[in-house]
Amino acid sequence: MTGNSSADGGKRVTHWIGGKPHTGRAERSGDLYEPATGRRTGTVDLAGQAEVDAAVAAAKAAFPGWRDTSLSQRTKVLFRFRELVSGHRDELARLISSEHGKVVSDAAGEVARGLEVVEFACGVPHLLKGGFSENVSTGVDAYSILQPLGVAAGITPFNFPAMVPMWMFPVAIACGNTFVLKPSEKDPSASVRLAELWAEAGLPDGVFNVVHGDRTAVDGLLRHPDVRAVSFVGSTPIARYVYGTAAANGKRVQALGGAKNHMLVLPDADLDLAADAAVSAGFGSAGERCMAISVVVAVDPVGDELTARIRERVAKLRVGPGDHPESDMGPLVTREHRDRVASYLESGVAQGATLAVDGRDPDVLGGAGDGFWLGPSVLDHVTPDMDAYKDEIFGPVLSVVRAGSYKEAMDLISANPYGNGTAIFTNDGGAARRFQNEVEVGMVGINVPIPVPMAYYSFGGWKDSLFGDSHAHGTEGVHFYTRTKAVTARWLDPSHGGVNLGFPTSG
Ligand code: NAD
Repeated sequence: MTGNSSADGGKRVTHWIGGKPHTGRAERSGDLYEPATGRRTGTVDLAGQAEVDAAVAAAKAAFPGWRDTSLSQRTKVLFRFRELVSGHRDELARLISSEHGKVVSDAAGEVARGLEVVEFACGVPHLLKGGFSENVSTGVDAYSILQPLGVAAGITPFNFPAMVPMWMFPVAIACGNTFVLKPSEKDPSASVRLAELWAEAGLPDGVFNVVHGDRTAVDGLLRHPDVRAVSFVGSTPIARYVYGTAAANGKRVQALGGAKNHMLVLPDADLDLAADAAVSAGFGSAGERCMAISVVVAVDPVGDELTARIRERVAKLRVGPGDHPESDMGPLVTREHRDRVASYLESGVAQGATLAVDGRDPDVLGGAGDGFWLGPSVLDHVTPDMDAYKDEIFGPVLSVVRAGSYKEAMDLISANPYGNGTAIFTNDGGAARRFQNEVEVGMVGINVPIPVPMAYYSFGGWKDSLFGDSHAHGTEGVHFYTRTKAVTARWLDPSHGGVNLGFPTSG
């Protein structure tokens, strides 16, 4: 369904423009892999400026009709899309797992979280209500209208090939915009399948388009005069670049970047709960989650005991292909990424950390073959000067840092340049309340390791984890994808025959 065959018999994933697959030749293409085996499975077309122009032109042409489509009709399409995605949840999960590597249940989870945003967008008629003030001056009313922007673009990372695009396009489209998605070229198939489901739901051609590609496609969108808004999610250096370039080209932009999420464990915490949380939040989706816990900050004296309980649990995790029913954790997305993540184990030890769990030669269910495997790994006694602490690793490496007090731990977390998510584990309500008040991070969990906001709140970090002022989805998403028009109106009173009798002007 999601593409045809490449010259060598593998699959070929191509763009979706104007309601159908792109039929043109690809000047450039990228390779696709199955991470569990290392097998090359096909190619993805990489767009040049011509394909970007075609997608933006299709979106631009579809905009007048879509913005004038009634709210009830738009909502009907959204409800149908919701039903279709829900009905194809397993198929989408398997597709994601085959290209990304994550276990199928994690992939199904990301589809479910994306669906929550579609459900939120189904309620957009309520969210698009403006304000009204009667009689702001004698016989004069003032009101506001929320209108769509036009063509919006979304540029998304590899780690959530369905959910992150679904943070963006349901809200953008519900608000009356048209959309061009540039998904990650590492796992592009889910986005095309979603485009097919939109078409089946009755979305008019051109309202949702997909162009695959790398920097060339991204630059084409960032500089395109007909793109009005850019939503980006990915690593911090690219987020910073996208933010600067899109803004310099006069676009509204929100750019969500990388993360280094800390979990603070106070001595009064339930250590079993904290160890369970650290392991599931550290190694779920092989740590390739922007809300993964990457650093556990153990406040004295619980460090040794907590690390021991984490080790016990890590020993029980099973590593294997995403579609193996017993796998808890799959491979990493590419060989290069696997090697880069593993290099932090070497540098961590060289810089003085202790390797509490070494995942470099994991037992893989069904055999490792040539897959991109790295098992769960734990570095203990990590200090802030080490590369393993400073860099975003984005893989199954959990660092344990020791802190002498709550204050030392808080200062460490707030000083980190990233500010995506954090969590505190404690039974002390006062300490938790102080933490939520003080910490310089955008999303906070209290005895909850991965505090991903529900669709009706907005998702976003602080500092180097988000450039721009609007977070994703929720009411901030509606705000991002609309602009407000303020109207001041005076109608002549019919008791005067509709004729201007020269009422005094005011206001
Ligand atoms: P990435 O920054 O490499 O790529 C993201 C997107 O940018 C992709 O579509 C990619 O094709 C494009 N891109 C890559 N290099 C580019 C360049 N030089 N110029 C222009 N565009 C470029 O990120 P990734 O490796 O796909 O995803 C992992 C990163 O995403 C991690 O840093 C993770 O923390 C972050 N992430 C953040 C959030 C969040 O909500 N803050 C959510 C998910 C992922």
